[in-house]
Amino acid sequence: MLAENLQKVQQNITQALAHRSEPKCTGTGVLLVAVTKNHPAAVVTDIQNLRVMDVGENRVQEARDKQKVLGHHGTWHLIGHLQTNKAKQAVELFDIIESVDSEHLLLALDKEAGKLGKRMDVLLQINIAGEVQKTGFAPADYEAILPQLDKFTNIRVRGLMVIAPQTDQVESVRPVFKEGYRYFCALRKVRPAIDYLSMGMTEDYQVAIEEGANVVRIGTALFGPRDYSKH
Ligand SMILES: *Cc1c(COP(=O)(O)O)cnc(C)c1O
Repeated sequence: MLAENLQKVQQNITQALAHRSEPKCTGTGVLLVAVTKNHPAAVVTDIQNLRVMDVGENRVQEARDKQKVLGHHGTWHLIGHLQTNKAKQAVELFDIIESVDSEHLLLALDKEAGKLGKRMDVLLQINIAGEVQKTGFAPADYEAILPQLDKFTNIRVRGLMVIAPQTDQVESVRPVFKEGYRYFCALRKVRPAIDYLSMGMTEDYQVAIEEGANVVRIGTALFGPRDYSKH
């Protein structure tokens, strides 16, 4: 079942890549991050056995519980909002933090990474659609932080993360992804080393890829619905 779901997702990714209109500044490939949140630890092993080594979790505590059982194999992405007081644990547990959304958090992560002697990979999350209930830098705050990034010497900014509004009309989120892509290309002009534009989940990853995403975060299409009663 999981193998079939994965095959379907990979086919859809290939198809979406073929539908890209023009050469993209995000390259020609897509990294699949399997979102294992609210699923048992065993699914991490299952998906990694199928050679998908990148997994996404949205809570520090859940990732810690899973790593206690599994150890740390592959690449762990934090994709949920992080509170500053959990920065230390997040730096210890994750290889990349996609959901960095404030200067305050950058400062905390930089400090903790420094203590651990680790260079922490992060993405800056931008709240493009301006949804009040969502986290992420407001576009103006994002523009303001850019000239300051080099002062966080223990942080390596790898790119951007965008979450589109939930909708049953997937085409309606295309402009959000277009805007995310525009931000990415602009950032890449001044920071040529950045490489990740993380956009797209189960409902919208094909549109996101068509618009230039090179990282997608997919849970439901791989593992089925999440059981929130267990957490
Ligand atoms: C849960 C989550 C996902 C995966 O969502 P699916 O719809 O199950 O694919 C992706 N990104 C973020 C930030 C999430 O919180």
